[in-house]
Amino acid sequence: MTGDRSATDIFRLLADDTRVDILRAVAIAQYELEQVGSGAAELAFSEIYDHVDVENTSKLSYHLGELTGTYLRKSDDGYSLSHAGERIVRFILSRNYEQPESFGPEPVDGVCVFCGEDELEASLSHQFFRIDCMACEQQVTGQPITPAQVETWDGDALVQSVKLRSAEVAKQIRRGMCPECGAQLSADVVEVPGSALPDADSFVVVSTCEECLREYNSPLTYSVVYHPASIAFHWDRGVDVTAQGIWEFHEYVYKGRWTSEQVASDPDEYEVVLRHGDDAVRLHLDSTATVVQTERVRRESGEFRRS
Ligand SMILES: [Zn+2]
Ligand SMILES: [Zn+2]
Repeated sequence: MTGDRSATDIFRLLADDTRVDILRAVAIAQYELEQVGSGAAELAFSEIYDHVDVENTSKLSYHLGELTGTYLRKSDDGYSLSHAGERIVRFILSRNYEQPESFGPEPVDGVCVFCGEDELEASLSHQFFRIDCMACEQQVTGQPITPAQVETWDGDALVQSVKLRSAEVAKQIRRGMCPECGAQLSADVVEVPGSALPDADSFVVVSTCEECLREYNSPLTYSVVYHPASIAFHWDRGVDVTAQGIWEFHEYVYKGRWTSEQVASDPDEYEVVLRHGDDAVRLHLDSTATVVQTERVRRESGEFRRS
């Protein structure tokens, strides 16, 4: 366990070119050694020595000793990356510390949540993929984007990769799991009367991670989009919401097709209705934004009834 060491101690271990080279070499050697179906390869001392530019075996031995326990695991068969070693070495290899290459502005599909116009442009700003509305000059969304993402995807495929990542993150948050650290999130529904979003959705789900202190905010309507009942409802109507970006949902909220309301208090309960033509899926949520009931309804003489 690392409980008695400070974060500074942990990071100080890496303030050395040879040690960073060792972690990189272990990842590369594992990558080269791994066979289909086998787990991560454990590397013998001599295999690491062959991959690292270090003066002699006693220097390597010293550095391995320093890294073991925090960034490396050691067993009778050799060395492998620890949980922290994995995170750090993937971070280093994918150069996640660099500024992604810039791109855009490029036109993208979708509608502005503020003014309803479809003049959206994507660009990169401060490591965020952002979409701005050319009509009202407001920022419509900002999604994190990595240098590796910009390096390996192009044009429409890059935009699609941003959508997929945001959908995967949203799915985990909906299930109450922190996408950063895997801890359990606590969620609350908060009413934001002065929200920049239209009146259609003034409720926001605030999900908080007490471990890594990340906070995630989502309109209540968007928080249920990746619920299986919504995925199936939309799929049956030719829409794959799992391949849609958050900003593509704005149109539904702007046009009043997706709405939320509070239907009970003490304890608080909410209802979200996602409409598509004369059909809708209705989801009931408790005060922690957990979906407790779903039903499909159909509009008959102006009213939505159970179908
Ligand atoms: Zn606009
Ligand atoms: Zn977390």
